[in-house]
Amino acid sequence: MTANIIETKELKNDPVFGQISFDGHEQIVFCNDEDTGLKAIIGIHNTVLGPALGGTRMWTYETEWHALNDVLRLSRGMTYKSAITGLNLGGGKAVIIGDAKTQKNDDLMRRFGQFVDSLSGKYITAEDVGMETRDMDVIREVTPHVTGISESKGGAGNPSPITAYGVYMGMKAAAKYQFGTDNLDGKKILVQGVGHVGETLVKHVTDEGAKVIINDINEARLEELSKKYGANVVLGNDIYGLDVDIYAPCALGATINDDTIHQLQAKVVAGAANNQLADEIKHGRLLKEKGIAYAPDFLINAGGIINVYAELEGYGKDEITRKTENIYNTTLDIFNLSEKEDITTHRAAFNIAQNRIDTRKKEQNK
Ligand code: NAD
Repeated sequence: MTANIIETKELKNDPVFGQISFDGHEQIVFCNDEDTGLKAIIGIHNTVLGPALGGTRMWTYETEWHALNDVLRLSRGMTYKSAITGLNLGGGKAVIIGDAKTQKNDDLMRRFGQFVDSLSGKYITAEDVGMETRDMDVIREVTPHVTGISESKGGAGNPSPITAYGVYMGMKAAAKYQFGTDNLDGKKILVQGVGHVGETLVKHVTDEGAKVIINDINEARLEELSKKYGANVVLGNDIYGLDVDIYAPCALGATINDDTIHQLQAKVVAGAANNQLADEIKHGRLLKEKGIAYAPDFLINAGGIINVYAELEGYGKDEITRKTENIYNTTLDIFNLSEKEDITTHRAAFNIAQNRIDTRKKEQNK
């Protein structure tokens, strides 16, 4: 064997198709540009329902494997989010390896935009962690295949208020199923993470008379919002055993895990964070066994994608609101299906989404 050939027995998995998050993805594009220092990966999971739309995340990944796994996992999630929401979109996502605070600049964004453009619309980008509306405006200079641009440039603007409204709808549907009423007046609600989405959610539930407890790592933010909405504050990580009716994870993923699940006192889990269940199958089943109504994250946080989809379809605010309000009906359907078929709500939502994709694929192959 020559020196420049890697000993394959040293590798644990096949480099791409053997990754733990690989799930029949259609295409994975590695983007490299020496002049700007761009290193990015675009993951296209599925385009049966339409072009793969999903945001670009810029993050300082520990290794390139972490970046690859992240883009694989996130792009798959987008497929099911759009499918369950009834949008004619596939699932895609992109990651740029680097520090958004120090390494992001307009040349890098333009170069990334050229890679997006080279896919001729099969992948359409948008904002995610580390990105801002302004970055999308820069990408728009070199490709039309970008959403989430400024309202002044014809875009739909900040998606967070719509995302929060969809989460609120999903939470009300879960309350209807669990408590027999969707009225949140007097309900104790813990909102973990009061950033862009969390704050608007706090506003909606406070307006309805809920007793809100907020938690965040940013203490200044807690102080500000506590004054603004009269919410109670809880500091630190020890929040899962709090005596509340509803837990709304709006910070990070995987907060429902082996350590936290047995502490939960809430009877409903409904929040904005992506990938709330550390293990979709195991923790989904445990929540069901504990009688906790879990509103699937990828269903109830779809307001943001409904908002950017408007840019492609040309519909306005009324239609965005109508589609987002429909999250209420879909969430109730999912609870009923989960009960009827004795499956988790995550599985029920996933099955409906997969069914939609399979049906469309059959029609296309006729
Ligand atoms: P954000 O960054 O504005 O807010 C997140 C908040 O969580 C911040 O205030 C942060 O301080 C806090 N936080 C971080 N770690 C924490 C921890 N360990 N404990 C408590 N608080 C913590 O983000 P956002 O746009 O409000 O999004 C919130 C979540 O919803 C994210 O998981 C995001 O992926 C998801 N999401 C957002 C949108 C959207 O439209 N913004 C759409 C879909 C999903």
